[in-house]
Order: sequence, then structure tokens, then C-alpha cells
Amino acid sequence: MPYVITGGCCADASCIDVCPVDCIHPTPSERGFLDADMLFIDPDSCIECGACRPECPVDAISPDHELSPGLLPYLSLARAHFSGDRTADAAAGPVAADLPSTVRPGLRVAVVGAGAAGGYAARELLKIPGVQIDVYERNLTPHGLVRFGIAPDHPQTKLVEAVFPFTTGNPNLRLHLGVEVGRHITHAELMSFHHAVIYAAGADGENRLQIPGGDLAECAGEFVAWYNGDPRVADRSFDLTHERVIVIGNGNVALDVARILTSDVDRLARTDIADQALAALGRSNVREVVVVGRRGVADAAYSYSEMLALQDRDDIEVVFDASDLARDDEQRTAIDAPSAPLLKEKVALTRRVAG
Ligand code: SF4
Repeated sequence: MPYVITGGCCADASCIDVCPVDCIHPTPSERGFLDADMLFIDPDSCIECGACRPECPVDAISPDHELSPGLLPYLSLARAHFSGDRTADAAAGPVAADLPSTVRPGLRVAVVGAGAAGGYAARELLKIPGVQIDVYERNLTPHGLVRFGIAPDHPQTKLVEAVFPFTTGNPNLRLHLGVEVGRHITHAELMSFHHAVIYAAGADGENRLQIPGGDLAECAGEFVAWYNGDPRVADRSFDLTHERVIVIGNGNVALDVARILTSDVDRLARTDIADQALAALGRSNVREVVVVGRRGVADAAYSYSEMLALQDRDDIEVVFDASDLARDDEQRTAIDAPSAPLLKEKVALTRRVAG
């Protein structure tokens, strides 16, 4: 009865250090960690001690006998991960270096952005005795995309907020909300008060499609922020009067948008979706969302967990164009490669969801 990591995994790696038999991979010192959507427990090595379970910030670890039928595929996924050729993924990665643990009295660091990247940066810096951190956040609340980017029907993933030190009252961290660098304070002013500045503010603004009609397209980032209650776009409205919506791109955000647009509104009402979005979606005429990607399923950017969230939904029918699935036959060698066991699982899952 091994323990199993499931789809809420944020690859935060908090569980890795406590495992007495080193069976959670990839680790931050392995190359595969950089691209990992999630971590895996080796079912054949796990001694079922349970030490990792309370460390997981998003409650994504369970013994296999506690998994609901919908989560059992994650045990198969873990078996697939460790059955493949892991030589490349297990090679030493570039993130092996630990921060210096020497006392640095008086070192002052500014962190710009109180989202996930800023949260992890601050958390690591606070491990260095003597460091003082000032975090500058333009919103009036911390946690950035954890709050305004993760879909409201994925509440488990939002639990990762608990690992960030913004609201813990740590005397070595000061949080400045409602302060925008470049507007309320300059980089030069930050440097005059700190020894270093870490920009963890992510990419801002939209990247318009450079095609005829591209200016008519809505920005997925704004739509996501809108249904998550971001006050900066609370006044936005989106045209939901048509039956068909085209989503350009097939990463996780694209599938989030497609899922929210097609979900039964009563199901959405049980989430923390923004009230104005719920009301608008309740009036929506959208019945079909066409997701358009450049290449086939094998190259699609969505994660295994994102596709699994569409399986067995009674309010959403997932339909694939047969020619898209046929494209994967052309890539059969890559899909079946021993070094890509997770790709093979993702393609197989997609075919199952597609019926
Ligand atoms: Fe490691 Fe124990 Fe967790 Fe198994 S249950 S992965 S042995 S910490």
C-alpha cells in the first residue's frame, strides 16, 4: 500500500526532505525537476511510513487504499514514471545549490511581487539568519496568481498559500501592499534601501495575436482574473452571447477557460468563483468551446492532471478531431520512447477522455 501523490501536487518539494528512503522524485537537484508538473513516489520503494503526508501543503498525498476511483490513475502514473528510463531526468540539474546558511546580519533584500515566486523566494531567504526582507505587492492582498490565477474549481491547489510567509507575522519580513514598483517607488529607491532586489512579479500585460482580427480576441489572463475576482478587472465584461468560443492554445490555462465556460453553473456555484462571473456565466449562451493548438496531443502543453479533470464529467463532453489523434500515430516512436513514460500516459489518457 504505497503512498501516492495526486494531481493537486504543486511540485513544491516540501515532502522530499522527510522521506527516509529517498523515494520521491524528481528532486530539486535532478534535472527533471525543472519541467516537472508534479512529483512521484516510487511505489516499489515506499515503506509507507506516512512522513510525507503532513508535509504536503496541498494535501495531495494519500496511501493508495484511500484513493477515490478518480484518483487511482495517479498510482499507474507513478508506476509508469519509475518504469521508464530516468537517466536523463535523474541527471544532476542546475538547481542543486543551497542558499548559504551563514548568518548575514543586516542584509536587506527587496522582493517585488507577493505571488508564488515571491513567496518561495521569501521563504528561502528567511532561512538565512539575520536577513531582513521587504516584499512589495501592487495588489491589496498577497498570493498573486495562487489567488487570482488558479481555477476556482481547483481549491486544493490554492492550499499552497499556506507555505508562503506573508501572513505568518515573521518579524524579519515586512509586506508592503498596494505599492507598485515603477509607479509608487522606483528601482533606484529600492536599491538605496536594500542590498539586492528580486523581481518576482511575472509577466504583465497581454501579447496580442499579430493576425487580422487579433485585436478582437480577449486575453485569457484577464478572463481568468475576472472569474477569480481580481479587483483590477472586476468591471470587465465578456461577450458570452454566442454559442461557440474559440480558445487559441492548449495549455492548462486554455483548458481551465474551456472548462469554466462549459461547466454547469450549479457546479461553479459550489466554488469560490467571483459573484459577477457566476452571474454572467449563468446567463451565458456558450455551448461549445473549440480549443485550437498548433500541434497534436503529444506536443500539447496541458498537463495529465488537467486532462484528468475532464474525465467522467457529466456536464462536459470532450470531443477530439480524429485527424488530431491520427497525428499522434505519426509520432509513435517518440510517444513510446522509454525515456518518455509520462508522455505515453498522457496520450493514452487523452484518448480515453476523447472516448
Ligand atoms: Fe517516503 Fe514514507 Fe512518504 Fe513513502 S510514505 S514516500 S517512504 S515519506
